[in-house]
Amino acid sequence: MQLSQIKGLGPKTIETLKNININNVDDLVNYYPYRHDIIVLNDIKGSEDKQNITIECIVDSVPLTRRFRANMTSLTFRAMSNKKMISVVIFNRAFLKTHLTPGSVITVFGKYDKPKNTVIASDIKFEKLKTGSIESVYHLTSGLTSKALKKYINEALLKYDNYIDYVPDYLNLKYNFISKKEAVNMIHNPKNEEEVKQALIKLKYEELFEFMFKINYMKEMNKENKVSYIRNIDPKDINDFIRTLPFELTIDQNKAIEDIYKDMTSSKRMNRMLQGDVGSGKTIVSIVASFINYLSKRQTALMAPTEILATQHYESIKNILSKTKMKVELLVGSMKKKEKDEIIEKLQIGKIDLIIGTHALLSENVVFKNLGLVITDEQHRFGVNQRANLKNKGLLPDTLYMSATPIPRTFALTIYGDMDISNIKTKPEGRKDVKTIIKSNKELVSVYEMMKNEIDNNHQVFIVSPLIEDNDVLDLTTVNEIKRNIELYFKGNVKSAIMHGKLSKNDKDKIMNDFKDGKIDVLISTTVIEVGIDIKNATMIVIFDAERFGIATLHQLRGRVGRNEFDSTCVLIGSEDNERLKVLSESNDGFYITEKDFEMRGEGDLFGVKQSGEMDFKVANLHQDMKILLQARDDSKEFLLENINNNFENYKEYAKIVEEITNLD
Ligand code: ADP
Ligand code: MG
Repeated sequence: MQLSQIKGLGPKTIETLKNININNVDDLVNYYPYRHDIIVLNDIKGSEDKQNITIECIVDSVPLTRRFRANMTSLTFRAMSNKKMISVVIFNRAFLKTHLTPGSVITVFGKYDKPKNTVIASDIKFEKLKTGSIESVYHLTSGLTSKALKKYINEALLKYDNYIDYVPDYLNLKYNFISKKEAVNMIHNPKNEEEVKQALIKLKYEELFEFMFKINYMKEMNKENKVSYIRNIDPKDINDFIRTLPFELTIDQNKAIEDIYKDMTSSKRMNRMLQGDVGSGKTIVSIVASFINYLSKRQTALMAPTEILATQHYESIKNILSKTKMKVELLVGSMKKKEKDEIIEKLQIGKIDLIIGTHALLSENVVFKNLGLVITDEQHRFGVNQRANLKNKGLLPDTLYMSATPIPRTFALTIYGDMDISNIKTKPEGRKDVKTIIKSNKELVSVYEMMKNEIDNNHQVFIVSPLIEDNDVLDLTTVNEIKRNIELYFKGNVKSAIMHGKLSKNDKDKIMNDFKDGKIDVLISTTVIEVGIDIKNATMIVIFDAERFGIATLHQLRGRVGRNEFDSTCVLIGSEDNERLKVLSESNDGFYITEKDFEMRGEGDLFGVKQSGEMDFKVANLHQDMKILLQARDDSKEFLLENINNNFENYKEYAKIVEEITNLD
């Protein structure tokens, strides 16, 4: 069903919905709330000072917008609540202004400042709510209110009848689950808490079952091709190569190379994860792996998540391999067709030993002469796609994954299962920890002073500021404000630039390259700077509103600096009482930090900057729902083994999943 068939949904809103990945009616119906609130309405007249209240009001004046400090806005308006006139203030939601028309009825959630006769709102709903009702809370986007979204969802639910239940019937029966249709309807419009619970358990189990099915299926496929090429290599050749490197390898780097050497010279196919903090020296280990592979006359493909990273890898790796006879090339989408064709041709006849690119490397028109090793940096950690794809090509190369976001061991076992892991915990010699300090919004001037110091020394600075809303609203007020303040402070003697997610790829690349070339001193970014980007000359990173980022993301961001012999600093703008910020200021050890994160808030941001789309759960939370996960893992395994031989003929939806897995490019 098309979105245009839903009553009230016009082309403009359909465009808006795309921002939150709603592209058709299936997406709309399956766009679940992330929270449910039970409404208790208060009477403003009986409310105490500082009390958290929920009140119904009528907007009485057009809101005034105010901007202040580096990164704050406020909206203030008069409102009438139970015949009492009050002021309402809400921070950092400037975009709500257009919806706050005088005369409209709204529900305000917030804290009452009685002496000032003001409610400091934390949220505003553009509708009447009843005490005892349950409010479904959705992630929104600019131009979409929750009232409107609910209306569209409910319109859709009236007509929709394409529910796909990924839980096999016998398991629905076994666990007494409600049907998918009931669950979806209840999650959007629960009558009581019990319904929320019933809907959640079903949808979580379903999500985890499907997820574990994919993982288990991949493992099964892997089992078949366990046997690989046995390499016969003289360790002396490897050591000779290692001696050409410009530095001593660390103990853990050597251990990882030992692991890889054993895998690659055994009959078992290598399936290894190399975990280590940003800058711990994973890349060099992977180069040694590619050299081992080269010694056995096989080709290596190294895949990075983005073109910038691929290009960066190419430049540094070419350099490192210049003393060898290994032939290295880059293949990325932005190259001219002629260049690409040449490289593809060379790959096919075996004139390239190491090809570096994005995952498009494994697309159909790229044919290898004898691919022996695939290295994946930072992305597609589950490798469902690649492996399936490679299998289709009749290739069974060894695989090595690199990740800067380590995951706790118990969890790794569940997810990776048969994947071996090498950890790099020691840091290269001379590498300094990034000094991390927490500063409040009131201390910005001292932060600017520190920045000035770095820039005067010809160093560069990253500034990161999250989008104001946690749901992807593109509100550039903050970054523009930061830029203006910096220009004011530096009296124009600084070159700064803004980078955000909605810029075209070309613009982003240009800004990134200018920064790399030192044409920009301060890079202000709303989105996360590319994982792994290497700006050697950057010595300071300032992260505004740091509390809004997950701990792993903050740690990754911090890794953008400290890549040189200078002392580097990370300034987290936020509260000193914040536990997560504290952990970061105390430690630079990614393994420790992720364990702490897991303890504190579940899988949360464990996967860093959402490197893997496959890990985006709608309702499940890997930490809280560990029990369900383990059950789903066992059940899906059993289900898989029962049905794999008849190609899931009784389960169309799974036949389709299997087909998707095997046909991905
Ligand atoms: P990762 O991929 O783990 O983020 P890299 O492999 O990119 O880290 O290494 C970061 C930097 O440290 C690179 O410039 C690399 O040349 C350097 N490096 C790696 N290993 C060592 C070592 N053992 N001693 C000194 N420098 C090293
Ligand atoms: Mg790296």
